[in-house]
Amino acid sequence: MSFLKEIQRRRTFGIISHPDAGKTTLTEKLLLFGGAIQEAGAVKSNKIKKGATSDFMEIERQRGISVATSVLAFEYNGIKINILDTPGHKDFAEDTFRTLTAVDSVIVVIDVAKGVEEQTEKLVEVCRMRNIPMIVFVNKMDREGKDAFDLLDEIEQKLGLTVVPLSFPIGMGYEFKGIYNIWEKNINLFSGDSRKDIEETIEISDLDSSELDKLVGEKAANTLREEIELVEGIYPVFDKEDYLNGKLQPVFFGSALNNFGVRELLDCFVEIAPKPRPKQSEERLVEPKEDKFTGFVFKIHANMDPNHRDRLAFVKIVSGKFERNKAYLHVRHNKKMKFSSPNAFFAEKKEIVDISYPGDIVGLHDTGNFKIGDTLSEGENINYKGIPSFSPEHFRYINNADPLKSKQLFKGIDQLMDEGVAQLFTLELNGRKVIGTVGALQYEVIQYRLEHEYGAKCTYENLNVYKACWIDPKNSKTEEYKEFVRVKQRFLAKDKQNQLVFLADSPFSLQMTQQKYPNIKLHFTSEF
Ligand code: GDP
Repeated sequence: MSFLKEIQRRRTFGIISHPDAGKTTLTEKLLLFGGAIQEAGAVKSNKIKKGATSDFMEIERQRGISVATSVLAFEYNGIKINILDTPGHKDFAEDTFRTLTAVDSVIVVIDVAKGVEEQTEKLVEVCRMRNIPMIVFVNKMDREGKDAFDLLDEIEQKLGLTVVPLSFPIGMGYEFKGIYNIWEKNINLFSGDSRKDIEETIEISDLDSSELDKLVGEKAANTLREEIELVEGIYPVFDKEDYLNGKLQPVFFGSALNNFGVRELLDCFVEIAPKPRPKQSEERLVEPKEDKFTGFVFKIHANMDPNHRDRLAFVKIVSGKFERNKAYLHVRHNKKMKFSSPNAFFAEKKEIVDISYPGDIVGLHDTGNFKIGDTLSEGENINYKGIPSFSPEHFRYINNADPLKSKQLFKGIDQLMDEGVAQLFTLELNGRKVIGTVGALQYEVIQYRLEHEYGAKCTYENLNVYKACWIDPKNSKTEEYKEFVRVKQRFLAKDKQNQLVFLADSPFSLQMTQQKYPNIKLHFTSEF
């Protein structure tokens, strides 16, 4: 197959949702369609299997949440689909934000009973800011939930989306009869038997035909006719370009658990979802079809194999072909590197691959060379941007609990920060180290991993910080800046990139500082 065809047949996306909305279940059903797994339950049990063989995963297993972001690839109708799994738990939101830099589109899963939940709001906001094309899947239609129109309103209001239903439910909960596929103009009747449902699509080109009454009963048929009329009156007509530009979001209804409405979603997805998209670097816009390889690290996963204490750096290929054993430039280190065993990911396994294409993810074995955001190229000085750090929510001093192991501790902290587990700040005043995280859970992960992977022990000590603000060095020559640095020294720290950060202890002190030093620009993310 030609290089261009290979690019065009790839779809790389992420599924985002609030925990328990049904992301894992939907992923699993998608994989079943692709023939990538044989039985329901495979995705979950796979998670646990990993947990049993890896220290890090032990924590995930104990807590039943997905700490890691993994890649699942499968083929469907000649299309190569890469699903990047994203942790829904809020303590791992940063991991998900980073993964969103590597997807070309997303599917948003919403629980019909719970509606739009907190984590969904945050994640969708990030996608909206980046104009990532989104498809919404309203899940759990076999349960009593919100009225479809009310829910569509809620999605528009809370998520700021412009929705276009491409399927519509016929009843819900006990009365759930199936869905009308507006996109394909057919009806899929719900029987609760996931295998049978796939066969049972009935063409229905005219909703006025009495055929519909026979299928779902007169009452439900009339309701559907009215509702579809309303849909056509209220919502815009679906336009693929608008979807691709993030201006409009198609909505599907179904029940992932019953494998219902999933085929409709998938068929539409492969037709409309974007092929690998161009990516902006600091230097220029890079097109997938360029013949020279470029890619960037969006995720580092430690200890997939407990026998080798190495890490796997996940690289999204942006342009050109990535080939095994070819020398590539590690741009930040200005160093050539070869990879003898790049991994590609499939539903249940990873395998060594010789060639990968734009849109694909390769996993590169790493002994500590990579950090999140690093770029690889064939020699060009390219730096992909767009993975800023946000201010952490929690801050604690980290102390060495075993003086004989301080070297191990520092190495461990250093590598964990490169993986993006948390952020490290070093106080200007006394050099003490402060760990900032999005969720309290990370402190346990760090402590556990320092002990099990690096043989180091740490303790934490509370520290009262409200927010970390990155200080713009632009005015650093001014008297105001010098005074600021002198007066606020107690609150200043350096991040891992040596950028100066102001650790405000309360919203009030932040406000006072901004008033007192109006020309010192404080930023809530590390990129400005
Ligand atoms: P995740 O946290 O978003 O990955 O959610 P899961 O896929 O693990 O699903 C959470 C729970 O909802 C599980 O108990 C699923 O069996 C259940 N679930 C998922 N989809 C459906 C559905 O369509 N209907 C019903 N009734 N339950 C569902």
